[in-house]
Amino acid sequence: MANINLEKCIGCGLCVKKCVNKAIELFNGKAVVIDFLCLGCLLCQIVCPKEAVTVKPRSVLKSEEEKLRIQGALIKRQINLIKKRLG
Ligand code: SF4
Ligand code: SF4
Repeated sequence: MANINLEKCIGCGLCVKKCVNKAIELFNGKAVVIDFLCLGCLLCQIVCPKEAVTVKPRSVLKSEEEKLRIQGALIKRQINLIKKRLG
Protein backbone atom coordinates (compact mmCIF):
# COMPACT_ATOMS: atom_id res chain seq x y z
CA MET A 1 0.00 0.00 0.00
CA ALA A 2 1.15 3.50 -0.82
CA ASN A 3 1.45 5.99 2.01
CA ILE A 4 1.86 9.73 1.43
CA ASN A 5 3.84 11.99 3.71
CA LEU A 6 1.63 15.08 3.50
CA GLU A 7 4.34 17.38 4.82
CA LYS A 8 6.59 16.46 1.91
CA CYS A 9 3.90 16.30 -0.80
CA ILE A 10 3.77 19.42 -2.98
CA GLY A 11 0.71 18.30 -4.95
CA CYS A 12 2.51 18.07 -8.29
CA GLY A 13 0.20 15.26 -9.41
CA LEU A 14 2.91 13.08 -10.98
CA CYS A 15 1.89 10.09 -8.88
CA VAL A 16 -1.75 10.61 -9.88
CA LYS A 17 -0.81 10.52 -13.57
CA LYS A 18 1.42 7.46 -13.24
CA CYS A 19 -0.73 5.29 -10.98
CA VAL A 20 -1.65 2.13 -12.86
CA ASN A 21 -4.98 1.71 -11.08
CA LYS A 22 -6.16 5.29 -10.48
CA ALA A 23 -5.57 4.77 -6.78
CA ILE A 24 -4.33 8.31 -6.07
CA GLU A 25 -6.21 11.59 -6.26
CA LEU A 26 -5.35 15.14 -5.36
CA PHE A 27 -7.36 16.58 -2.51
CA ASN A 28 -6.77 20.10 -1.24
CA GLY A 29 -3.44 20.13 -3.07
CA LYS A 30 -2.17 16.88 -1.56
CA ALA A 31 -2.02 13.33 -2.88
CA VAL A 32 -4.47 10.93 -1.26
CA VAL A 33 -4.36 7.16 -1.75
CA ILE A 34 -7.53 5.11 -2.18
CA ASP A 35 -6.21 2.17 -0.21
CA PHE A 36 -8.32 -0.62 -1.62
CA LEU A 37 -7.32 0.26 -5.20
CA CYS A 38 -3.58 0.31 -4.54
CA LEU A 39 -1.69 -2.62 -6.08
CA GLY A 40 1.62 -1.82 -4.42
CA CYS A 41 3.39 -1.46 -7.78
CA LEU A 42 5.82 1.24 -6.51
CA LEU A 43 5.41 3.55 -9.52
CA CYS A 44 4.20 6.45 -7.42
CA GLN A 45 7.17 6.08 -5.09
CA ILE A 46 9.56 6.04 -8.05
CA VAL A 47 8.15 9.17 -9.74
CA CYS A 48 7.65 11.35 -6.67
CA PRO A 49 10.22 14.18 -6.81
CA LYS A 50 9.89 14.84 -3.07
CA GLU A 51 10.26 11.28 -1.75
CA ALA A 52 6.85 11.72 -0.19
CA VAL A 53 5.61 8.22 -1.01
CA THR A 54 6.39 4.96 0.73
CA VAL A 55 4.93 1.73 -0.61
CA LYS A 56 4.65 -1.52 1.30
CA PRO A 57 4.44 -4.56 -0.96
CA ARG A 58 1.16 -6.42 -1.11
CA SER A 59 2.71 -9.42 0.61
CA VAL A 60 2.50 -7.54 3.89
CA LEU A 61 -1.21 -6.86 3.67
CA LYS A 62 -2.76 -7.49 7.02
CA SER A 63 -5.32 -10.16 6.26
CA GLU A 64 -6.91 -12.46 3.73
CA GLU A 65 -10.09 -10.42 4.12
CA GLU A 66 -8.22 -7.32 2.96
CA LYS A 67 -6.85 -9.16 -0.09
CA LEU A 68 -10.34 -10.35 -1.00
CA ARG A 69 -11.72 -6.82 -0.64
CA ILE A 70 -9.07 -5.52 -3.03
CA GLN A 71 -9.67 -8.29 -5.55
CA GLY A 72 -13.42 -7.62 -5.42
CA ALA A 73 -12.89 -3.92 -6.08
CA LEU A 74 -10.61 -4.68 -9.03
CA ILE A 75 -13.13 -7.08 -10.55
CA LYS A 76 -15.89 -4.48 -10.18
CA ARG A 77 -13.70 -1.90 -11.90
CA GLN A 78 -12.94 -4.28 -14.77
CA ILE A 79 -16.64 -5.04 -15.21
CA ASN A 80 -17.41 -1.31 -15.35
CA LEU A 81 -14.67 -0.77 -17.96
CA ILE A 82 -16.06 -3.61 -20.09
CA LYS A 83 -19.57 -2.18 -19.78
CA LYS A 84 -18.30 1.24 -20.90
CA ARG A 85 -16.52 -0.28 -23.88
CA LEU A 86 -19.66 -2.15 -24.91
CA GLY A 87 -21.56 1.12 -24.68
S1 SF4 B 1 1.73 1.68 -5.58
FE1 SF4 B 1 1.02 1.61 -7.73
S2 SF4 B 1 -1.18 1.18 -7.55
FE2 SF4 B 1 -0.51 1.88 -5.53
S3 SF4 B 1 -0.91 4.08 -5.53
FE3 SF4 B 1 1.23 3.77 -6.20
S4 SF4 B 1 1.16 3.73 -8.45
FE4 SF4 B 1 -0.95 3.41 -7.68
S1 SF4 C 1 4.37 12.86 -6.85
FE1 SF4 C 1 4.90 13.19 -4.69
S2 SF4 C 1 4.84 15.41 -4.43
FE2 SF4 C 1 3.76 14.95 -6.33
S3 SF4 C 1 1.59 14.79 -5.72
FE3 SF4 C 1 2.47 12.74 -5.65
S4 SF4 C 1 3.14 12.48 -3.51
FE4 SF4 C 1 2.82 14.65 -3.85
